[in-house]
Amino acid sequence: MTSSQPKLDVLVVGGGNAALCAALMAREAGCSVRILESAPKLWRGGNSTHTRNLRCMHDAPQDVLVEAYPEEEFWQDLLKVTGGLTNEEMARLAIRHSATCRPWMYKHGVRFQPSLSGALHTARTNAFFMGGGKALINAYFRSAQELGIAIDYDCTVVDLEVKDGQFQAAKAIHQLPDGSQREERIQAKSCVLACGGFESNLEKLKAAWGQNEWGEWTAENFLVRGTRYNHGVLIDVLRDLGADMIGDATQAHMVAIDARAPLYDGGICTRIDCVSLGVVVNKLAKRFYDEGEDFWPKRYAIWGRLVALQPGQIAYSITDAKAVGRFMPPVFDGTVCNTLEELAATLGLDTHTFMQTLNEYNQACQVGHFDHTALDDCHTEGITPVKSHWALPINTPPFYAYPVKPGITFTYLGLKTDKTTAVHFAGRASQNLFVAGEMMSGNVLGKGYTAGVGMTIGTAFGRIAGTSAALSVKSQTGQHRGPEIDNLSSSKEEHASA
Ligand SMILES: Cc1cc2nc3c(=O)[nH]c(=O)nc-3n(C[C@H](O)[C@H](O)[C@H](O)COP(=O)(O)OP(=O)(O)OC[C@H]3O[C@@H](n4cnc5c(N)ncnc54)[C@H](O)[C@@H]3O)c2cc1C
Repeated sequence: MTSSQPKLDVLVVGGGNAALCAALMAREAGCSVRILESAPKLWRGGNSTHTRNLRCMHDAPQDVLVEAYPEEEFWQDLLKVTGGLTNEEMARLAIRHSATCRPWMYKHGVRFQPSLSGALHTARTNAFFMGGGKALINAYFRSAQELGIAIDYDCTVVDLEVKDGQFQAAKAIHQLPDGSQREERIQAKSCVLACGGFESNLEKLKAAWGQNEWGEWTAENFLVRGTRYNHGVLIDVLRDLGADMIGDATQAHMVAIDARAPLYDGGICTRIDCVSLGVVVNKLAKRFYDEGEDFWPKRYAIWGRLVALQPGQIAYSITDAKAVGRFMPPVFDGTVCNTLEELAATLGLDTHTFMQTLNEYNQACQVGHFDHTALDDCHTEGITPVKSHWALPINTPPFYAYPVKPGITFTYLGLKTDKTTAVHFAGRASQNLFVAGEMMSGNVLGKGYTAGVGMTIGTAFGRIAGTSAALSVKSQTGQHRGPEIDNLSSSKEEHASA
């Protein structure tokens, strides 16, 4: 930028859902906006490209959403999965926002469809994106381009200048087509940071998780379910600049995924969704957690962590013929055998221990009425760990096994913020530096997860961050034309027509 150009109003760092929501809101409020996306255009959109749905509160059926999912139920679900490690004000803000944000999404080209069959019992709670997260991201980028938002791909922000808690400039590195790099200092009146967590940074994960009781570096066996571009660089920069942080570095959305998945971008099809229909054993052939604790959408995101805590960070999801057709089939075939002994031998597990585990489990299953859509009465008695629901004996050949490893989706350690999304320095809110998405998800998610809430958080706080940034520009120039923050989660927004 040369000195003759007017100073940019809003700089947005990141190219995923939260960043795009922020950029579009700031642009609609009349600001000049520039997006810096670390990935090349082909890989733009971060983890958001892998998503399928958004968890939405609604008091009555709404286009693709059946029945009702009131605020209180959403809040109680969140309270339960986080074990209370959540900020109620922030959580309720995101929840309320989810009731009203979809017309705005629709306006920017996002289309919805009813829940897919086998998609974690989500017809009531989650609105699915037609074409998935990739279509959502493409729609937002198209809208951003039409509205005149400047977009730089292959552009990574590596440092920030912050003075007395106020954003001054970002240092960006452009990757040029010839393989060289160009450095740029970019000033702006305000800035939104929405560049993900540090889930793609295996070195940082290794440091956070350390060595376990068997001397293993736990994170060495992690697979990254999404983008390779979220390295947490600016989380570190801001921590070093004295910003207030929130969350635990080892807490994350972590799913048990097929151990054969690629290191990055395996996406949704590598998830193993039959855990609640069978048992899971570690490499010592022992069960280690209640596979039927709760509905799978409320539990799938803890299984990556549970597997991470096992020796070798590997486990095996075991089912029989009764489970076939009751879950989304994974992309890789399972190991299929006609006897449990053969299955154990094929997996390289100790057959004696495996048979002991399976026999004990089978004998402990109480006769009940199996219903995978309810917290049914099929449970075990007399074994530890218990299986609370959907406990049917594994006795109908053929038998199936899927090897699972920890698949990290996104980390929760990030920046402490408030309902304006301002970054805080020693408890004081910055006037022009805001944060959205994974970078601040720890304000709502201290631990645990419930399906679709990542996009609820990104959409709510992305839009709020864009509005806050525009308000900040207004306070510097007196030219803001957009909505006030408090109106974003109110009934003033119409309901989705799609
Ligand atoms: C396989 C998978 C499936 C998922 N499914 C769902 C789902 O169905 N529903 C749901 O709610 N959530 C889902 N999630 C979680 C969801 O993806 C995230 O919660 C959400 O997308 C986070 O949005 P974000 O904008 O904060 O981050 P991202 O979408 O990851 O965007 C971060 C962006 O920042 C860029 N970036 C990183 N560092 C820099 C830097 N230094 N400079 C410039 N740019 C940078 C990245 O390239 C990326 O574009 C899923 C995640 C995965 C991986």
